Amino acid sequence: MVSPQFLPTPVAAAGGTGASTSTSPGTARTLDDAYGRTARDLRVSLTDRCNLRCTYCMPAEGLDWMPTEQALSDDEVIRLIRLAVESLGVRQVRFTGGEPLLRKSLEAIVRATKALRTDEGVAPTTALTTNALGLAVRAEGLKAAGLDRINISLDTTSPELYAELTRRDRIRDVYAGIDAALAAGLTPVKVNAVVMPGINEDGIEDLVDFALDKGLQLRFIEQMPLGPREHWRRADMVTAGEILERLGRRFTLTPAAEPRGAAPAALWDVSDGARSGKLGIIASVTHPFCGACDRTRLTTDGAVRSCLFSSQADEVSLRDLMRAGASDAELADAWAGAMWRKKPGHGIDDPGFLQPERLMSEIGG
Ligand code: SAM
Ligand code: SF4
Repeated sequence: MVSPQFLPTPVAAAGGTGASTSTSPGTARTLDDAYGRTARDLRVSLTDRCNLRCTYCMPAEGLDWMPTEQALSDDEVIRLIRLAVESLGVRQVRFTGGEPLLRKSLEAIVRATKALRTDEGVAPTTALTTNALGLAVRAEGLKAAGLDRINISLDTTSPELYAELTRRDRIRDVYAGIDAALAAGLTPVKVNAVVMPGINEDGIEDLVDFALDKGLQLRFIEQMPLGPREHWRRADMVTAGEILERLGRRFTLTPAAEPRGAAPAALWDVSDGARSGKLGIIASVTHPFCGACDRTRLTTDGAVRSCLFSSQADEVSLRDLMRAGASDAELADAWAGAMWRKKPGHGIDDPGFLQPERLMSEIGG
């Protein structure tokens, strides 16, 4: 039986045409879609570049990085975040990539974001998804700039396997980054681990031990078809059910009391008798949470994507509009129109599913 933790929220088609309602900045408006969802969570990819080469995300040689002039400038990115927060109902902004710490102006962008006020009259929540390389010296400054939350990617506690998986021998930097995030009070520090069959699945108990020792919230993620092509086959993915079944042999797992809302992770209380904590399972493939999705995304080059799995043809380039002199009201209309066309689900399980042309690092994971 499916655990209630994983039950998806049903998607119902709503009436209206959303995209046609023109609004000027400052007027209340939200990023609604035709299925009754409202996007409150903006994910911004600040760069497509990365200093790791995780096998499920990038080829060993890296990618053809985007030329700087194609990426949004700091002023452009801040203008679009301001529009989203002040005029389009966005309440949380997460910075990602690629590796967002590679953007030198990250602190300034966080500061400018935190100075905004949402439709509820408060500062937006700010969050960062990072591989933590270099975080040790920046965690405190990021906290001071107004960063609220952090997710750090770590798929194994084995230095050898980490070096193999990321193609870089840098696990010590990640540990230093985690300690710095804890010391800076960026809590709860969340750790993201993608589980891969025959690769790191035997180490998931060690990751739970590590998280319980350090007081981290660990989240296991089902691998999605977003990395180098031919790298993903559903048949050999480790499912959320298998992860839970395996962990249940060593730990006591109880569905957490917190309501899940639009959060991608189903939360569990985890304990081994002596220690306890929270564990998240992100079952993007086997139990999609599309029905409750509240995300809107900006790619490094300033395109709106309504879903990680949208096709490039569905993207709307706000960068091109901005550079052609569009007003804030025109940009808001374009953004709202793109979101109105959001599909009800990612369709990974549909027979005709096509892997998106863009990789995760370009879209912003
Ligand atoms: N570089 C940063 C990092 O690694 O945290 C931010 C970008 S990364 C693309 C964001 C998250 O996406 C990471 O937690 C990573 O593990 C996850 N990710 C990348 N490729 C994935 C895939 N094919 N399936 C599931 N998660 C993936
Ligand atoms: Fe870089 Fe993050 Fe992709 Fe790993 S998952 S290669 S750290 S962007």
